[in-house]
Amino acid sequence: MSAMPASRHFTLETLAEGVWAAIHRPGGWAVGNAGIVDLGDTTLVFDACITAEAARDLAAAAIALTGRPASSLVLSHYHNDHVRGAEMFPGTTLIATSRTRDLIDTFGREELASDIEHGGAQLARAAAMADDDDPRIRSFAAYFTPYWEGLVASAPHATLRLPEVTFEDRLTLHGTRRTVQVISLGAAHTPDDAVLVLPDDGVVFCSDLLFVGCHPYLADGEPDGWLRALEVLATHAPARFVPGHGPVGSADDVDALASHIRALEATAAGLHGEGASADDLEGLLPTDGSSAWEFAYPFYRSNVRFLLGRM
Ligand SMILES: [Zn+2]
Repeated sequence: MSAMPASRHFTLETLAEGVWAAIHRPGGWAVGNAGIVDLGDTTLVFDACITAEAARDLAAAAIALTGRPASSLVLSHYHNDHVRGAEMFPGTTLIATSRTRDLIDTFGREELASDIEHGGAQLARAAAMADDDDPRIRSFAAYFTPYWEGLVASAPHATLRLPEVTFEDRLTLHGTRRTVQVISLGAAHTPDDAVLVLPDDGVVFCSDLLFVGCHPYLADGEPDGWLRALEVLATHAPARFVPGHGPVGSADDVDALASHIRALEATAAGLHGEGASADDLEGLLPTDGSSAWEFAYPFYRSNVRFLLGRM
């Protein structure tokens, strides 16, 4: 057996024979996790990283692991860290829901323009936090300095590829070795999030419907829809659940995220009852099990602020 392909952007983890997770490597430019699936006669990739540099390694890994280039690339949702690398898969058919395609073409395009315009300033801001007294802020700097370095290097050259094949709720891909399903779970983390289910392997690629060991980002989606989506994901237990961010998890991680979102809603409702405003949240930190997760700063407070703003 040949050695696993190496990348400075991600670590490859074998989940089943012919199924690999590409997990963002700290300091690398993948940011979003991805997946590679050997369907037998064709190869499928799930999500595309945030930079062309990481996606080039992902495309090469798919060839090294399966012996052929990916014929299809499924994009779970429109966020930059899951779609930008798609341009490094020439000749690969891009697949997403029609809603996600629209979102890439609108908000995704705006996000690219913003990354190009503000990337340098954001990089300087993150780098300046590297020596902060607060370890949470140093952790933010350690993650977001390479994040913005990657965007400063890649975004000005990025061409946003739009999916050529769209579906609404569910798409089944049949290979000679396995059949997989791409399922939209509707508005949750974003206005539309799809997952990749490998029923015979006990593997679900969840993208950003699951965060493991780090705080989620709620402010672009529908928290109640997200809770419903997590209930659907939990029905696939026992399985390996590959998150969009963090290491490969289990059903416990799906449950922990659902509990955390409910706790966030309760915290926001309590603050609302006290008449607190979004400006009163300075220094607010989690007290539930998520206090051990990374990126409490800045995401915990911004998630509470988002929920409070909707009340
Ligand atoms: Zn996302």
